[in-house]
Amino acid sequence: MTQHQDQNIKSRPMTGPLEGIPLPDLERLPDYERGFWEGSHNRELRIQKCCGCNTFRHLPTPMCPSCHSLEYKWSKVSGRGVVYSFVVVRNPVHPAIREREQVPYNISLIELEEQEGLRVCSNVLNIAPEDIYVDMPVQVTFMPTIDEPNVVLPLFVPSDWSPTA
Ligand SMILES: [Zn+2]
Repeated sequence: MTQHQDQNIKSRPMTGPLEGIPLPDLERLPDYERGFWEGSHNRELRIQKCCGCNTFRHLPTPMCPSCHSLEYKWSKVSGRGVVYSFVVVRNPVHPAIREREQVPYNISLIELEEQEGLRVCSNVLNIAPEDIYVDMPVQVTFMPTIDEPNVVLPLFVPSDWSPTA
Protein backbone atom coordinates (compact mmCIF):
# COMPACT_ATOMS: atom_id res chain seq x y z
CA MET A 1 0.00 0.00 0.00
CA THR A 2 1.33 3.40 -0.95
CA GLN A 3 -0.82 5.59 1.22
CA HIS A 4 1.77 8.33 1.59
CA GLN A 5 2.51 8.60 -2.08
CA ASP A 6 0.10 11.48 -2.53
CA GLN A 7 0.14 12.91 0.95
CA ASN A 8 0.65 16.44 -0.31
CA ILE A 9 -2.45 16.35 -2.48
CA LYS A 10 -5.52 17.41 -0.54
CA SER A 11 -8.66 15.49 -1.38
CA ARG A 12 -12.03 17.10 -1.75
CA PRO A 13 -14.34 16.49 1.19
CA MET A 14 -17.29 14.25 0.45
CA THR A 15 -20.39 16.41 0.83
CA GLY A 16 -23.27 14.09 0.00
CA PRO A 17 -24.35 10.54 -0.71
CA LEU A 18 -22.59 8.75 -3.53
CA GLU A 19 -24.56 8.47 -6.75
CA GLY A 20 -25.32 5.28 -8.61
CA ILE A 21 -24.87 2.86 -5.73
CA PRO A 22 -27.36 0.13 -4.78
CA LEU A 23 -29.93 1.33 -2.24
CA PRO A 24 -32.40 -0.50 -0.01
CA ASP A 25 -35.75 -1.29 -1.59
CA LEU A 26 -38.12 0.16 1.00
CA GLU A 27 -41.04 -1.90 -0.34
CA ARG A 28 -39.25 -5.16 0.29
CA LEU A 29 -37.60 -4.56 3.63
CA PRO A 30 -38.20 -7.21 6.28
CA ASP A 31 -40.16 -5.88 9.26
CA TYR A 32 -37.18 -6.14 11.55
CA GLU A 33 -35.24 -3.64 9.39
CA ARG A 34 -38.05 -1.24 8.63
CA GLY A 35 -37.78 0.89 11.76
CA PHE A 36 -34.23 1.92 10.95
CA TRP A 37 -35.19 3.35 7.55
CA GLU A 38 -38.44 4.86 8.81
CA GLY A 39 -36.36 6.61 11.45
CA SER A 40 -33.96 8.02 8.88
CA HIS A 41 -36.88 9.18 6.78
CA ASN A 42 -38.04 11.14 9.84
CA ARG A 43 -34.51 12.44 10.49
CA GLU A 44 -34.06 10.26 13.54
CA LEU A 45 -31.40 7.65 14.11
CA ARG A 46 -33.39 4.72 15.49
CA ILE A 47 -31.63 1.63 16.72
CA GLN A 48 -33.21 -1.70 17.50
CA LYS A 49 -33.37 -2.35 21.24
CA CYS A 50 -34.20 -5.65 22.87
CA CYS A 51 -37.21 -5.60 25.20
CA GLY A 52 -35.85 -8.61 27.06
CA CYS A 53 -32.40 -7.36 28.08
CA ASN A 54 -32.48 -3.69 26.99
CA THR A 55 -29.47 -4.13 24.71
CA PHE A 56 -29.12 -2.12 21.50
CA ARG A 57 -28.21 -4.03 18.41
CA HIS A 58 -27.18 -3.10 14.88
CA LEU A 59 -27.46 -4.43 12.21
CA PRO A 60 -31.09 -5.23 12.94
CA THR A 61 -31.97 -8.87 13.49
CA PRO A 62 -35.25 -10.65 14.30
CA MET A 63 -33.83 -12.20 17.49
CA CYS A 64 -31.63 -10.81 20.25
CA PRO A 65 -28.23 -12.51 20.10
CA SER A 66 -27.82 -12.04 23.87
CA CYS A 67 -31.09 -13.28 25.39
CA HIS A 68 -32.90 -14.70 22.32
CA SER A 69 -35.95 -12.52 22.83
CA LEU A 70 -38.03 -11.82 19.73
CA GLU A 71 -39.43 -8.63 21.26
CA TYR A 72 -37.76 -5.36 20.29
CA LYS A 73 -38.52 -1.69 19.95
CA TRP A 74 -37.01 1.15 17.94
CA SER A 75 -35.19 3.59 20.14
CA LYS A 76 -34.12 7.06 19.04
CA VAL A 77 -30.46 7.62 19.89
CA SER A 78 -28.49 10.85 20.15
CA GLY A 79 -26.65 10.43 16.87
CA ARG A 80 -23.36 11.21 18.59
CA GLY A 81 -20.43 8.88 18.39
CA VAL A 82 -16.81 8.48 17.39
CA VAL A 83 -15.04 7.02 14.40
CA TYR A 84 -14.16 3.49 15.44
CA SER A 85 -12.45 2.59 12.17
CA PHE A 86 -12.45 3.73 8.56
CA VAL A 87 -11.08 3.06 5.11
CA VAL A 88 -10.49 5.52 2.29
CA VAL A 89 -11.53 4.14 -1.07
CA ARG A 90 -9.40 5.33 -3.96
CA ASN A 91 -10.03 2.55 -6.46
CA PRO A 92 -13.78 1.96 -6.57
CA VAL A 93 -15.09 -1.40 -7.63
CA HIS A 94 -18.52 -0.09 -8.52
CA PRO A 95 -18.57 1.33 -12.07
CA ALA A 96 -21.01 4.14 -11.23
CA ILE A 97 -18.62 5.55 -8.66
CA ARG A 98 -15.68 5.15 -11.00
CA GLU A 99 -17.46 6.81 -13.92
CA ARG A 100 -18.61 9.74 -11.82
CA GLU A 101 -15.17 10.13 -10.24
CA GLN A 102 -16.52 10.12 -6.71
CA VAL A 103 -13.20 9.08 -5.23
CA PRO A 104 -11.60 9.23 -2.81
CA TYR A 105 -14.37 8.63 -0.30
CA ASN A 106 -14.43 7.16 3.16
CA ILE A 107 -16.35 4.25 4.62
CA SER A 108 -16.44 4.70 8.36
CA LEU A 109 -17.56 2.57 11.24
CA ILE A 110 -19.14 4.85 13.84
CA GLU A 111 -19.41 3.71 17.43
CA LEU A 112 -22.48 5.31 19.00
CA GLU A 113 -22.23 6.77 22.48
CA GLU A 114 -25.18 4.77 23.84
CA GLN A 115 -23.40 1.45 24.09
CA GLU A 116 -19.90 0.04 23.73
CA GLY A 117 -19.65 -1.95 20.53
CA LEU A 118 -22.78 -0.40 18.98
CA ARG A 119 -21.52 0.54 15.54
CA VAL A 120 -23.04 1.86 12.34
CA CYS A 121 -21.33 1.69 8.96
CA SER A 122 -21.63 5.03 7.19
CA ASN A 123 -19.62 7.88 5.65
CA VAL A 124 -18.21 11.00 7.28
CA LEU A 125 -19.01 14.08 5.20
CA ASN A 126 -17.42 17.51 5.09
CA ILE A 127 -13.93 16.35 5.83
CA ALA A 128 -11.05 15.42 3.54
CA PRO A 129 -10.33 11.70 3.77
CA GLU A 130 -6.81 12.47 5.01
CA ASP A 131 -8.19 14.29 8.03
CA ILE A 132 -10.34 11.51 9.46
CA TYR A 133 -8.93 9.76 12.50
CA VAL A 134 -9.94 7.03 14.91
CA ASP A 135 -11.88 8.40 17.92
CA MET A 136 -12.89 11.53 15.99
CA PRO A 137 -16.19 12.82 17.45
CA VAL A 138 -19.00 12.83 14.90
CA GLN A 139 -22.70 13.62 14.74
CA VAL A 140 -25.36 12.11 12.52
CA THR A 141 -26.94 14.05 9.68
CA PHE A 142 -29.60 12.89 7.24
CA MET A 143 -29.54 13.14 3.49
CA PRO A 144 -31.90 11.89 0.81
CA THR A 145 -30.10 10.01 -1.93
CA ILE A 146 -29.99 11.49 -5.41
CA ASP A 147 -31.17 8.29 -7.05
CA GLU A 148 -34.07 7.49 -4.72
CA PRO A 149 -35.25 10.51 -2.69
CA ASN A 150 -37.42 8.31 -0.45
CA VAL A 151 -34.29 6.63 0.84
CA VAL A 152 -32.74 8.93 3.44
CA LEU A 153 -29.27 7.92 4.56
CA PRO A 154 -27.90 8.48 8.04
CA LEU A 155 -24.47 9.99 7.42
CA PHE A 156 -22.08 11.65 9.82
CA VAL A 157 -20.24 14.97 10.06
CA PRO A 158 -17.45 16.00 12.44
CA SER A 159 -18.97 17.22 15.72
CA ASP A 160 -17.39 20.65 15.36
CA TRP A 161 -18.65 21.12 11.83
CA SER A 162 -21.44 23.56 11.04
CA PRO A 163 -22.85 24.67 7.68
CA THR A 164 -21.73 28.27 8.27
CA ALA A 165 -18.15 27.37 9.25
ZN1 LIG B 1 -31.98 -9.35 24.62
